[in-house]
Amino acid sequence: MKTEVSGSMSVNAGDKSEAPLKGRIHSIMSMGGVDGPGIRCVVFLQGCPVGCAYCHNPDTWNTNGGEVLSAAEVAKKVLRYKTYFGKDGGITVSGGEPLMQAPFVTELFEMMRAEGVSTCLDTSGHGCAGEKLAELLSNTDITLCDVKFTSEDDYRRYSNGSLRVVRNFLEEASKAGVRIWLRHVVIPGITEDEDDIKRLVEIAECYKGIERIELLPFHKMCIPKYEALGISFPLADVPECSISRANELGGIIPEKYRK
Ligand code: SF4
Repeated sequence: MKTEVSGSMSVNAGDKSEAPLKGRIHSIMSMGGVDGPGIRCVVFLQGCPVGCAYCHNPDTWNTNGGEVLSAAEVAKKVLRYKTYFGKDGGITVSGGEPLMQAPFVTELFEMMRAEGVSTCLDTSGHGCAGEKLAELLSNTDITLCDVKFTSEDDYRRYSNGSLRVVRNFLEEASKAGVRIWLRHVVIPGITEDEDDIKRLVEIAECYKGIERIELLPFHKMCIPKYEALGISFPLADVPECSISRANELGGIIPEKYRK
């Protein structure tokens, strides 16, 4: 049921040795209220290899799409909204999968921090590791890490990803002192039973810095995007998750993660 995604970044987004450093940008949302603390300007990057069966942004997968911009050009666009960020808000870089363009995001975050803007990374935890990841995390204030599934089997069945990779990301983020919010989409019949949420809490308990666990109900508003791309949505026959069911499962999550 997973979606195969092919291609590789064709600009120097993954290599900081080339200059000027450019990234592939899918879109920029001037002010969002659900992608990290406070009001945030959300930069969606192009390219994702994870192929989640429930992905609601299939238009971000193509690694050769998007607009090619330098970190300085993106920073200039984001800083237009700086007065709205307040004390909690800032920039969130999302995707697609931002770790695929880690050196570019690192440079952008360095520029943001130099302007006193808080940096937030919205990621699946896949796309880079080692030194590049450490460098990015050292410039990241908070990460929204989407734990797609709570078992290796489900990662393999419904995506090209791996829980082991996500755990490595969480380990590194925790070591770097980054604030962590976990996210998890509740999909009826797939990630919706109580044991699934209990496993999610067990994962959270392994790492320092986890402040919050958010459950997001599965929906199918993405179907028109799949139709426009001429690809079928693998979970078209799966019912949407009600907000009340997501809230009910949220009751399993310890209070300390529901701030
Ligand atoms: S990681 Fe995000 S963008 Fe990539 S396939 Fe999964 S849901 Fe879609």
